[in-house]
Amino acid sequence: MPPDGSTRDQLEFFRDLGVKDVFLQHAAAETPSSVSPGSMPDLPSLQKFLEGCPRCKLSKSRTNIVFGQGSPNADLMFVGEAPGRDEDEQGLAFVGRAGQLLTKIIEAIGMRRDDVYICNVLKCRPPNNRNPEADEVASCRPFLDEQVRLIAPRVIVTLGTFAAQAVLETDEPIGRLRGRWRTARGVRVMPTFHPAFLLRSPERKKDVWEDMKLVRDFLAQK
Ligand code: URA
Repeated sequence: MPPDGSTRDQLEFFRDLGVKDVFLQHAAAETPSSVSPGSMPDLPSLQKFLEGCPRCKLSKSRTNIVFGQGSPNADLMFVGEAPGRDEDEQGLAFVGRAGQLLTKIIEAIGMRRDDVYICNVLKCRPPNNRNPEADEVASCRPFLDEQVRLIAPRVIVTLGTFAAQAVLETDEPIGRLRGRWRTARGVRVMPTFHPAFLLRSPERKKDVWEDMKLVRDFLAQK
């Protein structure tokens, strides 16, 4: 009969009996399949919950999980598609060229990056920046939903086709979605173009400016 005492006492008891190997049935806690909606008290707890996430195949190729960053009390939240190479390397959302343009867009409406919250639908980089796949979105989506619940922004701006369609759960094209208020989970959503698209098509910057003026004016009403 092993002693009731500490794990150490028990291991010493078995060692003295000549036992060389001990197999722990529950050595590694099982990864919960997802986060339960409403279960996280704050963003740091959610980020900790996501640490080492193995829930989809992107976990095999990523360098860092890109959780998102900014003010936890932000009125304005930006949601992009997925981390690119720079983001994967640094573990931060929108830090590459598209991110620099996003900073200018934020500053154009009189805000700073620190005032807003910036994240992506997917928290891990798809290899070679390929489009996100349905199973990856399904795995990651509950984490975005929990971020939205915890931040409770007044407005979400989705960046590009993929983010708009994922957040709004629609397959409507971005040409029809952009510039028009929508609602998702009780939050106003303004779909606009992705800054990476604007780098290729700078003539569309004026459309984003129109969309951002709507956002600025809405946020100015208290
Ligand atoms: N594109 C995105 O959609 N997200 C990033 O974080 C960077 C580039």
